[in-house]
Formats: sequence, structure tokens, C-alpha cells
Amino acid sequence: MKIFNTLTRSKQEFVPINEGKVGIYVCGPTVYDYIHIGNARPMIVFDTLRRYLLYKGYDVNYVSNFTDVDDKIIKRANELGVESAVVSEKYIAECKKDMEGLNVMPATTHPQATKEIPDMIEMIKVLIEKGHAYEKNGTVYFRTRSFDGYGKLSHKNIDDLESGHRAENHQLKVSGEDEKEDPLDFVLWKPKKEGEPSWPSPWGDGRPGWHLECSVMSKKYIGDVIDIHAGGEDLIFPHHENEIAQSEAANDTEFARYWMHNGFLKINNEKMSKSLGNFFTVREISEKYPLQVIRFFMLSAHYRSPLNFSADLVEASKNGLERILTAVEKLKELKPANEGNDPAIEAELENFVKRYEAAMDDDLNTADAISVIFELIKYTNINVTNDTPKATVDKALSTVEKLCDVLGIITEKEEELLDSDIEALINERQAARKAKDFAKADEIRNKLADMGITLLDTREGVKWKRA
Ligand code: AMP
Ligand code: ZN
Repeated sequence: MKIFNTLTRSKQEFVPINEGKVGIYVCGPTVYDYIHIGNARPMIVFDTLRRYLLYKGYDVNYVSNFTDVDDKIIKRANELGVESAVVSEKYIAECKKDMEGLNVMPATTHPQATKEIPDMIEMIKVLIEKGHAYEKNGTVYFRTRSFDGYGKLSHKNIDDLESGHRAENHQLKVSGEDEKEDPLDFVLWKPKKEGEPSWPSPWGDGRPGWHLECSVMSKKYIGDVIDIHAGGEDLIFPHHENEIAQSEAANDTEFARYWMHNGFLKINNEKMSKSLGNFFTVREISEKYPLQVIRFFMLSAHYRSPLNFSADLVEASKNGLERILTAVEKLKELKPANEGNDPAIEAELENFVKRYEAAMDDDLNTADAISVIFELIKYTNINVTNDTPKATVDKALSTVEKLCDVLGIITEKEEELLDSDIEALINERQAARKAKDFAKADEIRNKLADMGITLLDTREGVKWKRA
């Protein structure tokens, strides 16, 4: 399999460090709110990478963290008047529910920053001993210029970065960051402020910097060298650049062999983000579409391309997915009576599998892989019938199912209850009442009750809620 490596800016043959084993680290979300569908893109894309590597027979150790100590979490907790942990634990649980809906497999380990503080302190100690870090008034900084390779991932030149910093206004001085030896230095440990969670350390009570957590947790759960490190492209600089500097300076070895970055999910050609306010949460979207459709939509583009979110495109994905599920259903309903095999059909099926694998081997080209699935179902719809031998029908079905399964697409047709379906039934009930057909109105009410929907007849009209 070839992977586009951000480090070398080229597609490279994937060779794991240990034969048959792959260690993957994916930077996870900061948990202060429900995740938005932009955050879901790396989850879906790299879950698909994991599934494909499993399909190829690798043993995959997949680690993805939750950033559970951060300014945004603290701010949210202070607004609500609760401890930070109350906010982070709630949104970790909610995130896991969304992941389940998106059919994203739970990671082998989901480490949390707040549970790994002793190891973070250890890494800072090592960096200080080696001259790569220093403490000033309770803050520990990484001495960026002490690490030779700085800028190698983002392909930035350290002197350009420095002059960029100088050109910025004097905000730095105001925020007290002028105590740094060099404007490029970044924080490993920050001192406690009133109303913030903190942990004791040799440099006083405080909390770790964001970049440090990933260096520490990947080392603990995968090792000093990881095969694939992944995340959204906004993380290349400074987050991943800083992770490399910390880990390579502390461990004296290469940090990650392959760096994979997904492109942005956009809306009206702007990055979907919390700060721009142009986002939809996965939870909101799940009321409008089955989350399978969202997963299928995300995989319909190459992971490195930007992807624009629009109702039309999601609708197209919904129809595409429906075509696949209908084809699967049709194969399941066949009643073939013939014995034996049809070698010509089976050879064609193998051919589709090869083409699918070729697409996935080409830097996880799920867009092309999906096109192959569409061609495959077009082929089975025409060529696999009740006259086809049973063993060949079974093979056709298992082939479609197998290729969908690698993408995390569930081929069982599931009845999802959408808001629009519920509202259509309520309207039907209202019409029945108007026509004084109370038996029918009651029947619809009972049907909704069976589906877990409670109706409330109020003066403002009918209100409903899910159980
Ligand atoms: P955050 O919680 O902002 O650290 O983001 C968690 C993950 O989601 C990171 O890998 C981000 O790069 C990724 N991400 C955030 N917004 C988007 C977006 N609009 N499109 C794709 N990935 C995103
Ligand atoms: Zn990270």
C-alpha cells in the first residue's frame, strides 16, 4: 500500500516497523462540546485506514486521545459552575455515542491527558536534563532552536518563522511571554491560575501544554517510534511539528514514519469550525440523516481533498448508499436452485476485488473504491440471478458485503426514524382527526408510541418527543 507522507510530500510504500503490526496514533478532539461533522472526518477516514489494514491482515494498535484539559474546557466549566472534569467526562461519553453512530470502532486505547500527568512530568524532566527545555517562573518552555529538525514536517524554515514572529505586534509582551528565550519556544508546562485544574510538579502546581500530551501518550501506548501519525491538516503546524521536536529530542529516535493529514470539511468553501460558528454537530445531523449516510458521504471524496458539505451532496450520498443496500437485499432474496459454480462470474467478482484493492492501496482512495462498488453492484444486478449457481450467488453477496465492511458501511437495511418521518405521521394523524376518523388517528398515535414517540396535544398544536 502507498501512503502520501506529509513528511516527504510523496506517496511512499507503507512498510511497518515490525512485520505484520501497525501502530497508529490519531489526535483526538478537545472535549468541551458535542463534536461537529468536521471533527468526524478524521475519525471516519482513519477508522477506514484501520479497517483496511485489518483486512490486509495486520495487527493494528490504534490509539486516539481525548484532550480533556484545555482553556476551552475550563472556560465552559467556569460558565457552568462545575469542575472541568464534569464537562470533559460528559463530552467524552457523547463523543463515543457519535462515534458508535458513525460506526467508528473504539480505539485500542483512548488515553486522556489528565490521567497521564506523571509521564508528562517525566518527559519534561528528560528534556530539561538534555538542554532542550528550561523553566521560567513556573512555566517550562521547549527550546525550539535546540532541535535541529524543527520545521521538517511543515516544510517551514526556522528563520522565516522567527521573522514572522517578530513582525507580529507586541501582544507577546503584554501576555508575559517575553520571558521566553526565543519567540519560537513553546510551552510544555504552565503554572496554575485561580479556578483552573492543576497538578503538582517540580516546577510548581500547573498543567501540561497541549502538544506534550500526544508525545507522551503515543510513547506510552505505542512506543518511541510509531508507524502512522494522523490528524487534520490544521494540526501540521504547530501541533505536529512540536510533537516531533519534543519526542525526537527526548527519545533520540525518529518519532513517526508516516504522517497522514486529512483535508478540511468545508461549508460554503470555508473550514467548518467552532470558532467560525459555521458548524453542524454530528448529533444535529443524526436527526436529519442516518449517520451511515454521513460516513458514506465523507468517504466519497479522497481524504486529502477538501470536501464541501451541502444538502445536495449528502442527498446524492443517501441515494448512492440506498442503491448499494438495495442490491444487497436483492442478492439476499434470490432463491437459486442450481448446484456448482459459475467460473466466469466468480472471475469477474475477483476482478472487482482487485480493482478495489488497487484503489485503496493508492493512498486510501476511497472515492475510487466506492466507484468500484457501484460497478460491482451494477454487474451483480444484471448478471447474478436465480439461474446463477447458489455458491456463486453467495460469493457475490459476500464480496459486496466484504468491500462495504472495509469502508465501515453496514449493509443490513436499518429502519432509522427521522424527524421528517415522524412529522409526516403526525400530519397524517391530524388529517384523520379532521376527517373525524378517530380510529385511524388512534392507530397512528399507537404506531408512534411503539416507535418510542410521545405526542402532546397542546394549544399551540401537536408537540412530540423521543423516549
Ligand atoms: P480539535 O477538537 O479542534 O482539536 O479537532 C479534532 C480533530 O478534528 C483534529 O484532527 C482536527 O484537525 C480535525 N478537524 C477540525 N475541524 C475540521 C474540519 N472542518 N475538517 C476536517 N477536520 C477537522
Ligand atoms: Zn496531537
